Amino acid sequence: MGKLVDSLTCELQGIVLSLEMLLQAFTNACDMNLSREAFLVCDCSAAIDMILHRESYGRISRQMFRILQLAKSLKDIQVIVHLAWVPSHCGIVANEEVDKLAKIAAEDAFHDRILASSVISLSAAFKVSSEIAQESWQAKWDQEPAVFFTRLLIPEVNTKVLFPRNYDAGISYCRLLLNDTMLREDSFRTGVSDTPMCKCGMEHESAEHFLFRCAEHHSARSVMIRGGTGREFRRIPDPGTRPLLPGRIRVVAGSGYLI
Ligand SMILES: [Zn+2]
Repeated sequence: MGKLVDSLTCELQGIVLSLEMLLQAFTNACDMNLSREAFLVCDCSAAIDMILHRESYGRISRQMFRILQLAKSLKDIQVIVHLAWVPSHCGIVANEEVDKLAKIAAEDAFHDRILASSVISLSAAFKVSSEIAQESWQAKWDQEPAVFFTRLLIPEVNTKVLFPRNYDAGISYCRLLLNDTMLREDSFRTGVSDTPMCKCGMEHESAEHFLFRCAEHHSARSVMIRGGTGREFRRIPDPGTRPLLPGRIRVVAGSGYLI
C-alpha cells in the first residue's frame, strides 16, 4: 500500500484484494453447481458506509473506482457478494489472520524491510493530519489542570455541545460545565456569600444539591426526570451535535434561578 496511508484506505484496499480473489475463483471455477454467493466480512464500518453510499472525500478514490469495477464484473457472472460488518477481534480465524499479516506488513514497510511507496493521496493527507490534530488536542485536554471538572463532563475533545435557547439558562449551564456557579457553595468559596448553606437548610448549595436534592426545585426536577421535547435547545454548529446533560438545562430553566 505505501508508508503514508490512512487506515480507511488500507481497509478499502483489503476489500479490493478480496473481490479480486473472488472474481478469480469464480472465473476459474469449473463446477457449475457451485454456489454463486459469497460473504465478505469487514470490521471497518466507515469503509462499508463508503461503499454503500459510494462516498469519497470529494472525488472517487482509486480503491473505490476499482471496487465498483470488480462489483460489476462479479455481477456480470451472476455472483452475489454480501458485504457484512463484524466487530474486530471477535474470534473469526481468517479475520484475525488478515489483521496480523497486515500489521506485520505495515511494520516491515515502516522499517524499510519491504519496498513501499512514499506517495500520499490528498484524501489520506487530510485524514492523517486531522487524526494527528485530534490526538494532540486530546493530549492537551487530558493534561490541563484548569479543566479538571469540565473534563469529567466532557472527556473527549471535539464533542459538540447543545446550548439552551434561554439566554439565562445558557449562562447558568456554562457555569455548571465550568464548575464555577453563583450557587452558595461556590459563592462562599469566593467570598460573595456569607454561608455555603442552601436556603432550604438541608445542606450546602452545591450543583448536585440544586439539581438533585433541593426541595425548592422539586417541580423543575420532575420535568428533568420525565424528560422533555428537546425544543429548548438550539443546534450548534452542525446536525451531529447532541445534547449534553439536557436534564440539567431543564432544571436550570425550570427553576427560574440564575446560578
Ligand atoms: Zn436547597
